[in-house]
Amino acid sequence: MSTTDLRAAGTTSSGAVSESTTNACRMCMPLGASLAFSGVEGTVPFLHGSQGCATYIRRYLISHFREPMDIASSSVGEDATVFGGESNLRQGIVNVTTVYKPKVIGVATTCLTETIGEDVGSMLRRAVDPDTGLAREFSVEPPILVHAPTPSYAGTHADGYQAAVASTVATIATEGETTDSITLLPGIVSPADIRHLREITDGFGLPTTIMPDYSERLDGVTVARYKKLPPGGTPVDQIRATGHARASVTIGGLTTPGVTIAGEVLAARFGVPHHQVPFPIGIRLTDAFCDLLTELSGNPMPEWLLAERGRLVDAYIDGHKYVAEKKAAVVGDEDLVVGLSAFLAEIGVTPVVIASGGRSGKLAERITACAPELEGRVEIMDDADFTMIQKAAEQAGIDFMVGNSKGYRTTRDLGVPLVRVGMPIHDRMGAQRVGHLGFRGTQELFDRIANALLEKQQNESPLAYSYM
Ligand code: SF4
Repeated sequence: MSTTDLRAAGTTSSGAVSESTTNACRMCMPLGASLAFSGVEGTVPFLHGSQGCATYIRRYLISHFREPMDIASSSVGEDATVFGGESNLRQGIVNVTTVYKPKVIGVATTCLTETIGEDVGSMLRRAVDPDTGLAREFSVEPPILVHAPTPSYAGTHADGYQAAVASTVATIATEGETTDSITLLPGIVSPADIRHLREITDGFGLPTTIMPDYSERLDGVTVARYKKLPPGGTPVDQIRATGHARASVTIGGLTTPGVTIAGEVLAARFGVPHHQVPFPIGIRLTDAFCDLLTELSGNPMPEWLLAERGRLVDAYIDGHKYVAEKKAAVVGDEDLVVGLSAFLAEIGVTPVVIASGGRSGKLAERITACAPELEGRVEIMDDADFTMIQKAAEQAGIDFMVGNSKGYRTTRDLGVPLVRVGMPIHDRMGAQRVGHLGFRGTQELFDRIANALLEKQQNESPLAYSYM
């Protein structure tokens, strides 16, 4: 069944065929931008638009990360919609600067301000201009202002994330003498993944700037006194130096056409060599990532990582009888589903349905490149919604789903387990600590998948098996 057939299978309450998205498999572009800005030291994410957008995004991110999350808004109402929102934007920047004293304000536009055609770039230039700026009008010196254009009808949260990272380096990075450091640009991964990526590059002896790094800001420790600006984030000085780093490495980076990624910006503006690798999930993709780190550092894989690889191979051997020949649906951001699909194929699971709300147009090509054995055997859907995914999963007869909490209803209807990965995870604890990347993250995923299948088998058995 084609993607169009699957979408047309949805009907409205009147029974008419619907071409609309039902239960979207993506979130909105400024949400991704707010997440990326949260990973920059001393930054306040700021939405130029109506207040409801900031409330929705705050609620979503807080319930996933379970950390306080301040997102400012210019609170565009009826008047500003008609006459333009520049004065709201200026007043908002003044308020945020006065209250938070941030190093950076990351301004993302919403559907509303993009639709009315606000020229935010020019507004921000006027805000810092000595003649027309905030210093003159309000006696307030604004911090660094970064603008990410994020009309949500044009892309997904993953696109908004990449747009914000690219705008941040485009605004802050500078030329200079080439350093020993590399810039690692992960896509949307968990704080635990970011910490693990740091361990891996340290293990190769490679000085690395991870951009963005929300591992501390969105998975922090309890403090006696609430801080308006949580510590952590990629230091602004390090972002400046990304313009003269030795290389940049993008992990993932599939985006809707029209969204440029930070590695491409650094290459085009400063000539920084750019490498792009898939999410390192499973043995072959983690090996590929480590091979690149060896090439960049001149050092072999460290002993402790080699041992983790060995333990993962051992786990595959121990657990293959529980997972082999099972069928799965894989749902989430495009970069994540590419890595997950290659990993599942590696352990003998066929990801019969591979679906994302992303619209890069490259999903099928990337999956074939990373797991050629899947070609022609699986249904790959981009720009998908959960109505389509449920239909396809039902037809294919899946044993389990790997995806975010939005898949819960589908798996409940189908009576199969959901192994929660990616974002958002609202209905379980520990989303910040779900590991996906490297041999260690793969190990955690492998155990969780095998255990979910064992639990289902045990629950459905007429005999009270305690030894399986
Ligand atoms: S209106 Fe647009 S920007 Fe605002 S929350 Fe909805 S999709 Fe996101």
